[in-house]
Amino acid sequence: MRYLSKKPYILKEKICFIGLLLIICAFRLIKIQYFHPKDTIPVPPIAQEEFGNFITEEIPPEPIPKKTEKSVFAVKEILNDNLEYKAFLTFDDGPSSNTEKILEILNKYDIKATFFLVGTMVESQRDLVKKIHESGHSIGNHSYSHNVRYKNFSPKYFVNDIKRNDALLKEVLGKDFKTNLVRFPGGSFNLNSYKASLKSSGFEDINWNLSNGDTSAIKVPKSALLNNIYKETEDLNSTKNGHNLVILMHDLSPKDTTVEALPEVIEFLQKKGYKFCAISERN
Ligand SMILES: [Zn+2]
Repeated sequence: MRYLSKKPYILKEKICFIGLLLIICAFRLIKIQYFHPKDTIPVPPIAQEEFGNFITEEIPPEPIPKKTEKSVFAVKEILNDNLEYKAFLTFDDGPSSNTEKILEILNKYDIKATFFLVGTMVESQRDLVKKIHESGHSIGNHSYSHNVRYKNFSPKYFVNDIKRNDALLKEVLGKDFKTNLVRFPGGSFNLNSYKASLKSSGFEDINWNLSNGDTSAIKVPKSALLNNIYKETEDLNSTKNGHNLVILMHDLSPKDTTVEALPEVIEFLQKKGYKFCAISERN
């Protein structure tokens, strides 16, 4: 009886011992897996490094063009500042029967531009000159006679023609009006002696680096004007001074397509990120 009664006791003891061993093993396994994963699953050194770099290393900032609240720039600033995308719309040869339409479009888009006025046109359209001025646009001097054959005359003749227009603009806009901004009729290319004379008389000239091509015929189709702007903007974008577009257009009676294309020119440049600015009258 004693022998028979001891056997289940030993069996129970064994079962308990094995059960205890299993519990200990299971506990150790859980402890290893969940509390000390590094002891059993080493993280590869490269992965650790990458993870560390991702958290601690600073990502270098993208070069962002400097933004400024200024909307009027002197000639020297335009030539030297290459940090912000700016478009300077310039209208030569006015005022004309198209001036008011141009002003309406500029007003609609809240844009300031620069008008290079010709004395002979100013004489007969004084109210339009006042309107351009009162609308807050810059006014530049495009000579009195717009005689493009200056090479046949002297630098002194040319400067006197500029001074004549300057006196007329003061007569129309009041003696407090001042502009020393000049654009040569036909551009100032290869006219260094004329440029030097102009500068010594206190004037500053500026050319353009982009044209809508509206002088290539009496009436250039709107699509051709737009294509010129699109192509030349792309070309300039890839050059060093592509941040500043000085755009030549004409404010003349036959140039209706220039007016028709203007809203699309503005919207194209806005989409490209250009800010519209005027060229300062004081340089
Ligand atoms: Zn002109």
